[in-house]
Amino acid sequence: MDITVIIPVYNEEDNISMLHDRLKSVLDQLTDRYEMIFVNDGSRDNSMPMIKALSKQYPSVRYIDFSRNFGHQIAVTAGLDKANGDAVVIIDADLQDPPELIIDMYKKMKEGFQVVYAKRKQRTGESLFKLWTAKMFYRILSKITSINIPVDTGDFRIIDRKIVNILKEMPEKSKYLRGQISWIGFNQTHVEYERQERMAGETGYTFQKMLSLALDGITGFSDLPLKIVTYFGFIVSIFAFFVMLYALYSRYIIQDYVAGWASLMIVILFIGGIQMIAVGIIGEYLSRMNNNIRNRPLYIIKDTNLED
Ligand code: UDP
Ligand code: MG
Repeated sequence: MDITVIIPVYNEEDNISMLHDRLKSVLDQLTDRYEMIFVNDGSRDNSMPMIKALSKQYPSVRYIDFSRNFGHQIAVTAGLDKANGDAVVIIDADLQDPPELIIDMYKKMKEGFQVVYAKRKQRTGESLFKLWTAKMFYRILSKITSINIPVDTGDFRIIDRKIVNILKEMPEKSKYLRGQISWIGFNQTHVEYERQERMAGETGYTFQKMLSLALDGITGFSDLPLKIVTYFGFIVSIFAFFVMLYALYSRYIIQDYVAGWASLMIVILFIGGIQMIAVGIIGEYLSRMNNNIRNRPLYIIKDTNLED
């Protein structure tokens, strides 16, 4: 098998057949040994019957049907686990990632790169809020991690079999695939493209899913939040020490100890707030450790036409 294309699918009934047609015409130009793996991530619409119908018509269409919605990163991971290709493409189902770009990416790979990711020059048709938060997030992440995670890049990319095999050996449960792939190294490069509007349907990435992906990215690749908490703790303690000296001074030297309720409340609330944040940050890391220790399977397959 030369190429595997992994397509995570969550409620994409209006995009699937168009996506398949465009993918097929691109892949037919490159090789005749390819497969498409549609991973149905618990869609509640007609996506799965449509994929099944395609698979009856085209032997290159494979599918994995999850028992429920496990999330985009997990869906891609399942595809990686089952992929047979020497090169693996990850692409969204909503045609925001143009399949035609795969030709350029594949060519670049043949020049000797193990990873060719697609970097967005521009994104059309997305809310200002999403554009702004995504932009900020990628920049902050690249500042606080020691590895070089490229900015303005999603999971749309082509990766070599070698990278796929290493990814399969990485046991972490909180997946942030683009970070893991950067972490692995080898020769990586990019091609640029203009990100299109989603063709039909609506985004499956709710604010909560975005937030949890962002937290997975940060906690998976940076300890800086924990360090900030520690530094902050030190600074506040030093400050508190001087406040204590002043309190003793005013109590015993100048004998002024009735007033001061307001300042006391402010200090208590302030330190209380900082402690809550600190505990919350530690909790984020702990819950991820806990997830790894539980060692539950990442996903559950209800149905598939792929062999093990
Ligand atoms: N997706 C998924 N599971 C989810 C949410 C999304 O498999 O829980 C898929 C979705 O079908 C699409 C891709 O992940 O192929 C990207 O999702 P989406 O287009 O909704 O995200 P956005 O482009 O708005 O960030
Ligand atoms: Mg999309």
